[in-house]
Order: sequence, then structure tokens, then C-alpha cells
Amino acid sequence: MDRVGVSSSCDAPVVAIDGPVASGKSSVGRAAARIVGLRFLDTGIMYRAVTWLALQRGIAAADASAVSELAAGSRMELSQGADDDTTIMIDGKPLGPELMAAEVDGNVSAVSAVPAVRLELVRQQREIAKSGGIVMAGRDIGSVVLPNADLKLYVDAAPEERARRRHAQIIQAKPEVGYAQVLADTLQRDRMDMERADSPLVAAADAVTIQTDDMDFEQTVSAVVAAIRSALNLGRHAEPHG
Ligand code: C5P
Repeated sequence: MDRVGVSSSCDAPVVAIDGPVASGKSSVGRAAARIVGLRFLDTGIMYRAVTWLALQRGIAAADASAVSELAAGSRMELSQGADDDTTIMIDGKPLGPELMAAEVDGNVSAVSAVPAVRLELVRQQREIAKSGGIVMAGRDIGSVVLPNADLKLYVDAAPEERARRRHAQIIQAKPEVGYAQVLADTLQRDRMDMERADSPLVAAADAVTIQTDDMDFEQTVSAVVAAIRSALNLGRHAEPHG
């Protein structure tokens, strides 16, 4: 069954969650997916994995043809863990915290703007969604990857609020990093993701926007779970777990 071309409320629904840097779409999407009993894929880790590999090999993020070759030629495996989350392995090596390094942050938007990289990763994302039963988070999931998703959400917050959240995380490990720097980086990544020619970040026309400026994490998870349950009629047979 080709889920990409299907739109129906059923027992293996497909939910797209898009949003800008630090909107919370991944952490909220992961928690909500667990509650409603769906798999979860944060597609950002795939772009981060290609970026990490480019940095490892000394390939410049701006070198479109070398980066494209990397995306097509490296053995990227995604495995579903016991918690229904996904881990990523490149050439047999599992990747985790290294994907969140500042150097990856600084280069990932350039790598993800390369059309051939997107083509390859979107192909893999559609393959993963084929069997349904998944919440997929990213920038272009509702608009490009899964245009016929059963539900599309766009999770957003003002740049200042997103930078505040990201800064609070970063200073746990690097207390010397200032808020102004984090805000500047956030705005820069927003600009690159929203202004790129191929698949720019955009709320799909039929997406439901969840504005999270005045919500904490739990409230946002509840809002996403409520949206999923009401759109997909999952309330009866998916009880919270985990
Ligand atoms: O979501 P996260 O911040 O981890 O994504 C890292 C980067 O990967 C984004 O800034 C964006 O450039 C790219 N990305 C993308 N399309 C997606 C997911 C992420 O272009 N579906």
C-alpha cells in the first residue's frame, strides 16, 4: 500500500509535524507519538547525519556535488528502538549527541539546501512512511514529503521565545554562550530554511498551526495529542503509555 498517495483516517495514520528551529516539534512530536501509540521519525537527524559525515570527511557544506555524492553513497540505516523512536547509523556507526554539535548546527542548513540531498532523503522518508502509523517531524513533511498525510500540524513560536528555549538548553553544557548569539543563530537558520529554493520551510495550506509561545512542554504535548485524536479518531483505542 502506498501511503504517500493515500489520505484516510485509519488504524495506521500518518501525521506530519513541521516547524522552525527550536519550535519543539521534535520533542513534542516524540512525546505525543508515544502517547497515541505511533512510531516517530525526526527527519532533522537525517540531514544532520549527512552534515556530520561531510564534516568528518573534510567536505565543505557548500560543495553541492560532493555532499550529494555523500548522501547517495553512504550507508544510512534507521532503526526503530523499543521506545518507537528512531536511531540513525551511518556506515554501521550509531550517531547520537554528535548530531547536535554546534558545528553540525552551523552547517546543516547549507547541506539541506542541496536538491540532490533532499531527493535522496525524501525518498527514504516516504519509504519509512509507507506502512503508516507514524508521526514524522521536519520542515517540509506536510508540504513535500507526505502531502497526503492524514493530519498536518505546524508548531510555531516567536524567534525570541525559540531562542530563549534553545539558550536554556545550550548553557547546561556551555554556560559561556550568550542569548544574543543564540538568537542570531536561530534567525540565520530560519532565514536559510525559509528562503531556500528547494522545499522551503512553510506551513502547508491545510496544516493546523499550534502557536506555543505561551505554552510549556506538557501543554504543547497535550495540544498535539488532542489534535491527533480529534482528527484521526484515535481516542478510543490508543491509551497513554510510557
Ligand atoms: O529539526 P532540526 O533542527 O534538527 O533540523 C536540522 C536542519 O535540517 C534544519 O535546520 C533544516 O535545514 C534541515 N531539515 C530540512 N528538512 C527536514 C528536516 C530538517 O531541511 N524535513
